[in-house]
Formats: sequence, structure tokens, C-alpha cells
Amino acid sequence: MNDLFDELMFGWKSSAPDAEFPFQNFKIYKYFNHQQERWYVELVNRNNRHWMLLSRYRMSVKLGRILTDDEEVDHKDDNKQNDEIENLQLLTGIENKQKAIKRVEEIVTLICPICNRTFQRKSHSVRHKINNGKEPCCSRRCGYVQGTRNNFT
Ligand SMILES: [Zn+2]
Repeated sequence: MNDLFDELMFGWKSSAPDAEFPFQNFKIYKYFNHQQERWYVELVNRNNRHWMLLSRYRMSVKLGRILTDDEEVDHKDDNKQNDEIENLQLLTGIENKQKAIKRVEEIVTLICPICNRTFQRKSHSVRHKINNGKEPCCSRRCGYVQGTRNNFT
């Protein structure tokens, strides 16, 4: 009975490689989660079974300890499938949120008030203008037209 249970729960994974410290009591099985589009590892032994992101596993092995819930593993190149250790860095939850906000803020899409063309700018380059009630233009040419119009009003 016990053998059958072991076989069902543990099965062929008993022949999987051993996980590294600090998960040395587990066998490790790496797989791609198609829904999340991320690499995961399954850590399994006769009593336990854990799933975690491959990036978290690799950072834990590098640091030699299990990560806390507050710590997040960030991908330097923003490619979340690139789990090479050189591409990973450890951030606290707060740092990671700040990085995410920065990333979203970086580029803004605007509509030129002169020619109605859609264009993009780095948000910090136009923020000052917008805060002063001015509408940024797509080009110098439109900026010039805007300037002459303002002179007539
Ligand atoms: Zn324009």
C-alpha cells in the first residue's frame, strides 16, 4: 500500500536530479507553465511538494537561503523567461513596485494639438509643460505653429 502510494505521488520523479541547497532534500523537476508563460520548478520528496518560479529557485540557491514573501526576483532585461542567474536581481517588494511604476511612466502617448498626429515622448520630458497647462506638439514645426497661434489669442 505504502509502495503504491509512493509510486503514485512520487513516481518517476524519484529519478529526477537532486535540488541544490537550501532545497537539498528535494528532487527537482523544471517545467514551462504555458498559462503564466514562465519557467517553474517542482520540488518533490516523499512528504512534500512545492512549486515555485525558476527565478526564485535560482536566487535562493545563489543566496543559500529561502526567500521571504517580501523579496521579489526581478529580471534586469524585463524578459521574464530569461531566468539566467546573471539576469536576476533581488528586490524588496517596495523596490520592485517602484521599478514597475517607473517603467509604466517612462513613455506617454500624446496627440498633437496642431496636426492631430499621435506621438510618444518620455514622460519626464513633457511633464513640466503639461503641468503648466501647455500641450506638447509632435514636432518643432507644429510647436512653431502653436506659438504663432498663441500670439494671436
Ligand atoms: Zn503635430
